[in-house]
Amino acid sequence: LHVETLLGEGVAVPVDGNGAHYLISVMRVKPDDIVLLFDGKSGEWAARARDIRKRDLVLECVQQTKPPEVVPDFWLCCAPIKKGRIDLIAEKACELGVARLQPVLTRRAVVDKLNLDRLHAHLVEAAEQCGRTALPELTEMVKLDALLKGWSAERHLFFADETGGASLDETLRAHPGPAAFLVGPEGGFDPAERDAIRATPGAVPVSLGPRILRAETAAIAATAAWMTVNGD
Ligand code: SAM
Repeated sequence: LHVETLLGEGVAVPVDGNGAHYLISVMRVKPDDIVLLFDGKSGEWAARARDIRKRDLVLECVQQTKPPEVVPDFWLCCAPIKKGRIDLIAEKACELGVARLQPVLTRRAVVDKLNLDRLHAHLVEAAEQCGRTALPELTEMVKLDALLKGWSAERHLFFADETGGASLDETLRAHPGPAAFLVGPEGGFDPAERDAIRATPGAVPVSLGPRILRAETAAIAATAAWMTVNGD
């Protein structure tokens, strides 16, 4: 279970709301039962249930069961896309182990606002499901030109370019180290955006194959490919 309280030996974590409902009514937790907790920074902790009431309970940390996770230094930078599809990206990006999910507003984006609370909830749910104890950082949406302007060449910016680029496998192997993948919206990047991305120090255009993938497929496939080469 994800909690906001910073965990540590003896720390008592009050739980209410959905978390309490899940533990009390769904899991039927009883006094002294052990529940596994993570706060996103302190690894995983076993905590003992106590003070169980109708709508809240207290979980007292007893022992660390996993050290803090080592997260591969990979960011997924993707344009906002329609609701169910961006939710899928968030879920899979978390499962695959990304360090940061960075929404990027581009000219052809059909969606220009994102509900970050909803995306955060998907990240938490995915982390709980896959046993991650570090949540990906979810950043505010930035405009593409601002992202490119502030880009540091020390981080490779793999640009998923459906109009052509170097072969993915060889390119990833030739560029170890901190990286990000940039994936466009449903309508792709416009030509001026493509030129600006290509001119950014650190940018490396790559192809994900001869077929035009849906934006969410491209984001998930690119992340999986990078993790296969660099992830633990
Ligand atoms: N119209 C479809 C949709 O609704 O999702 C396809 C969108 S595709 C243009 C969206 C983005 O996925 C592109 O901007 C690019 O970043 C990435 N992409 C898709 N296919 C790709 C490929 N074969 N190679 C590299 N990138 C690709």
